[in-house]
Amino acid sequence: MLNGDGLRVVLWVAGCSHCCRECQNPVTWDPNGGLPFTGVERAEIFAELDKGYISGITFSGGDPLHPANITEVTTLAREIKVKYPKKTIWLYTGAVWEDIQNEEIVRYLDVCVDGEFELEKKELLLKWRGSANQRVINVPATLREGKVVLHQD
Ligand code: SF4
Repeated sequence: MLNGDGLRVVLWVAGCSHCCRECQNPVTWDPNGGLPFTGVERAEIFAELDKGYISGITFSGGDPLHPANITEVTTLAREIKVKYPKKTIWLYTGAVWEDIQNEEIVRYLDVCVDGEFELEKKELLLKWRGSANQRVINVPATLREGKVVLHQD
């Protein structure tokens, strides 16, 4: 419930090179950390997404767009988009939108929360993000309009 609209499945991946000061998940920085992602975990995700009350999936970490993750996360996002077209896909990344907008994965995203966590811009009351520099981006509208459109709650 804290990682996007509704009740969601969340996949936290290992691997992040942004090294934000006071990151809440430094345990996820090591791309060799975490648990292996096998057919069992994959089946668990799809079983959860099958449930009517699940709004969609959120990819977080770590950084799902870290070089160690982006290929597999893109494949998973593509499959989920095809199988569950009415469910939403959110993704958190330390990269900024302008640097990732041409990646294949953005075509499958509904919302992208971008940018590193910046301690001096931390605000406790922000929704879906930790620091004011980060943006909660409506991806389809952004792609359509060719400029960043923010997600409206
Ligand atoms: S991008 Fe996220 S996971 Fe990576 S260091 Fe920054 S806050 Fe931590």
